[in-house]
Amino acid sequence: MWSVPVPIPGNPLGYTLVYAIESPRGPVLVDAGWNHPDAWAALSGGLAALGLDVSTVSGVVVTHFHPDHAGLAGQVRQASGAWIAMHENDAALVRLMNEFAAREHAAFQTDMLRRAGAGPDEAAEAMGERPPPPALPDRELRDGDLVDLPGRKLRAVHTPGHTPGHICLHLEDADRLFTGDHVLPDITPHVGIYPYDREDVDPLGEFLDSLDRVRDLGPLDALPAHEWIFPDVAARAAEIRHHHEEKLERLRALLAQRPQPLTIWEVAAMMTWNRPWDELAPALRGMAAGEAAAHLRALEARGQVRRVAGVDAVRFHALDS
Ligand SMILES: [Zn+2]
Repeated sequence: MWSVPVPIPGNPLGYTLVYAIESPRGPVLVDAGWNHPDAWAALSGGLAALGLDVSTVSGVVVTHFHPDHAGLAGQVRQASGAWIAMHENDAALVRLMNEFAAREHAAFQTDMLRRAGAGPDEAAEAMGERPPPPALPDRELRDGDLVDLPGRKLRAVHTPGHTPGHICLHLEDADRLFTGDHVLPDITPHVGIYPYDREDVDPLGEFLDSLDRVRDLGPLDALPAHEWIFPDVAARAAEIRHHHEEKLERLRALLAQRPQPLTIWEVAAMMTWNRPWDELAPALRGMAAGEAAAHLRALEARGQVRRVAGVDAVRFHALDS
């Protein structure tokens, strides 16, 4: 088994770790990297340096649909005839992204940002760029499925939260867990809700349950998609859960001090980010608002916060506990 760091141009994360597991039918990749010529050169060159030709890859299993993971899967398939596999929930999103025209997408975003309480100028700036949608998968995975990897036991563990179809991959014959973005050694993944004012899902609640799932797998070695390989995934999963519980409690306490219900945008501006709100780039404010919304939704699901639908925007206030 090998890892190849594949650069993500212009992104502070730096690179995606693509893993290659050898098999009699040819290597299977876990994730593929960002769709960019430099990334392709790093992936194909990195595999060649290991004595693996990209044309011999038999499959790509992606941990989730994000462009730094699934972006290059289509090009690997073109070069090798490999299958692409992902969880059925993310496959459904990829189908939707391929059908959604850019103009419809922009209108949808603007409307969502308005309901979240962003001003018109801010909403226009917070839209961010939309990378081309990833290639459609050939195979869809469900929780517990074995990946087509002859001679090894690689099982999909559904860990929704960062995306609805995020999977970790348990290499059961070697006590290792490919964690994608779900569990990283130093940072924690973005957990947002989309659109922000959705009431029918609770991604942060799911993310916390998914951390418990990983904790219950025991002290496996973790092979994450960013940063570095680390031991005892169970301990790190428990630590991340604790971090979010504290963040939820701080947010609940903050809301309890405010007499007036607040918009998602106002809540996001009050929360602690890695830099002050005023210094956050517009696209990062959009991400922060999604994260604030996911925390509000999780508190609402726990009965600690209630939403008030207004004509202009949705607002939230704390309930007495
Ligand atoms: Zn991701």
